[in-house]
Amino acid sequence: MKKVLAMLLAAGMIFSMTACGAKTEAPAEEKKETVEENTEAVEENVEGTEEMDGAMVLISEGKLVMATNAQFPPYELVSDGEGVDGTGFEGIDIEIAMVLAEKLGLELQIDDMDFDAALMAVQEGKCDVVLAGLTYTEERDQIMDFSDSYAQGVQVIIVNEDSAIKSVDDLANADQIGTQRGTTGYIYCCDDYGDDHVAAYDNGASAVQALKNGQVDAVVIDKAPALEYVGANEGLVILDTEYVVEDYCVAMAEGNRGLQAAINVALNELIEDGTVDAIIEKYIKA
Ligand code: GLN
Repeated sequence: MKKVLAMLLAAGMIFSMTACGAKTEAPAEEKKETVEENTEAVEENVEGTEEMDGAMVLISEGKLVMATNAQFPPYELVSDGEGVDGTGFEGIDIEIAMVLAEKLGLELQIDDMDFDAALMAVQEGKCDVVLAGLTYTEERDQIMDFSDSYAQGVQVIIVNEDSAIKSVDDLANADQIGTQRGTTGYIYCCDDYGDDHVAAYDNGASAVQALKNGQVDAVVIDKAPALEYVGANEGLVILDTEYVVEDYCVAMAEGNRGLQAAINVALNELIEDGTVDAIIEKYIKA
């Protein structure tokens, strides 16, 4: 088990050291030209003077349609109030998508669905982008395209306070590990411990409820929502040991180079001018 984990950790670290967008298959020169073209398009749109030059393919004119799973606090959640700009949603990804769309001169539309449905939606051309605390993986990169990374995620382990599971190594003794369907937590646990020992739930809240009910022995989930769930549920703790370190990126349909370049230009501007950090800090106190 240790060996597998060491490999996973190494893989996780490689992912986190490599900008997701750097993995495009386009030759460097071609990519540079596309980026330059799109930079112009973005600049024109920022000033609101001209339409896009057509290089950026969108499913609906003038709109950036985002699929997400709004059960992943603090990255995306259904708001108690009106939400960000009256969308009914709030969170880091919602705010980043809002400023991205603004920079591209587009209106943001948010479609809330299960996490695995969001991954299907982008592949089937039912949305332009997925922002969902979505981790870059080489496997996913075969079937969709990714932007550069805008945040780091960590897979952690939640257990009941009195649990015999006290470290990553003890996960091997768990009869059932709760995860969210289709997530990296689910994939890694299936690889490490076998499908029979992994229970998949529609979202993190259901997995955490199953842990409280004693239906699973541990939950493997991203650290940011884990902190929220543990904060809201007495008797749960996050183990000190980190399982895998990951990069969060925006996903787009495979081959939509214009959109990928435009998103990367806008995203990097928002990273460089501190907007992305400010949004993250607003939701996650350092
Ligand atoms: N980061 C994890 C993944 O990409 C989980 C994301 C989520 O549940 N929203 O698989």
